[in-house]
Amino acid sequence: MTIETHRPLPADRHLAFWPAACLAVRGGVAACDRCANACPVGVLKVGADGTALVGDCLHCGRCAAACPSGALVAKGFDEARLPSGNLPVAIECWKVPREIAGEQAVRVPCLGGLALTRLIEWLVEAGSRPLRLVDRGWCANCAAGTDGFAGAAILAALSPWLSASGLPPAHWPKQSEKPLPKALMPREIPSAERQIAMGRRAFFGRLAKEIARSERPVEAPAGPRAALRRTRCPLPAHERFLAALTQLAATQGRPLPPRALPRLEVSPACRDHGLCASSCPTDALVIRDGEKGRQWRFSSARCTGCGRCVAVCPEQALRLGEGGQFEEVVLRTVSLTSCLECGRDFVPQAAEHICPQCLAQRALAQSMFAPGPNVAGQ
Ligand code: SF4
Repeated sequence: MTIETHRPLPADRHLAFWPAACLAVRGGVAACDRCANACPVGVLKVGADGTALVGDCLHCGRCAAACPSGALVAKGFDEARLPSGNLPVAIECWKVPREIAGEQAVRVPCLGGLALTRLIEWLVEAGSRPLRLVDRGWCANCAAGTDGFAGAAILAALSPWLSASGLPPAHWPKQSEKPLPKALMPREIPSAERQIAMGRRAFFGRLAKEIARSERPVEAPAGPRAALRRTRCPLPAHERFLAALTQLAATQGRPLPPRALPRLEVSPACRDHGLCASSCPTDALVIRDGEKGRQWRFSSARCTGCGRCVAVCPEQALRLGEGGQFEEVVLRTVSLTSCLECGRDFVPQAAEHICPQCLAQRALAQSMFAPGPNVAGQ
């Protein structure tokens, strides 16, 4: 068995990609394009083979921060370490020279590329030390920037999770405005080699260790997507997010916030098409046949709440909420009948003994051999 994990993306060694964990590769192009949407310069494209660069990457890391499964990883974020001591922690962008940011500052390629998980992990590690995302007033003039401060979006996205975890707002990370003259801003995000005392080999070695901590071995996706779907989707980023949030909530004596675990309900309107499970990109919803019949099994811990299952159900039989259980639950069990014609197991909608496919074939045959219109009788 070959084990596949992240590999450097061709043409750019700042990004690493793991096809088996990519929701677009697993579920078809429409399954996910968050990385491409997050790219500020539109040089990332998502296809059936995964993510590819079609232009010069700025190395801001927004694509990786947006990836819900962890298929895409950007250099410079996981390597950054909090300083020891009791001082507030300043998080700065790589463009700010180290001499200005200070030796104690945590430096990342771009504050807009910070992932929720990384900030939550730092919050837990920082304890009572305040976290500050430093705004130098450069973002609006940066190619990777936004109209305002690049760190504002992640702070906004973080607040509902901090609130649900019970963290008092006084301890939430905040924006800290410390403007610098725009003339000092470098045009490009400096290279990783100049920013971190860590070679390329060390980066990917470290990455492999991170993955090994949370991942089960997955067979290399040789051949068509069907072969890939036989292995459960690796979700290192999602698992890490749940772990970080669990730790943060525990610091406040609380369990994991219910909104972190989606709950899926099936109504009696379900007609057992199975479209929901086949369109779930993370394998949170799967169908298994066993002695008890056909079962719809749902794992909240694997569900990213994308809503595809709800959207594809023609009967509108699914409802997505929050407050699921960490363990896999059985949502629905139906008895199977063996088709009298082809022998395949199927779910009877009434008391029929012929499967829908055989019934359809019968109907087709009957229509082909039925007598034509009686011309003489016209
Ligand atoms: S919302 Fe539905 S389709 Fe999306 S991950 Fe959860 S179970 Fe799968």
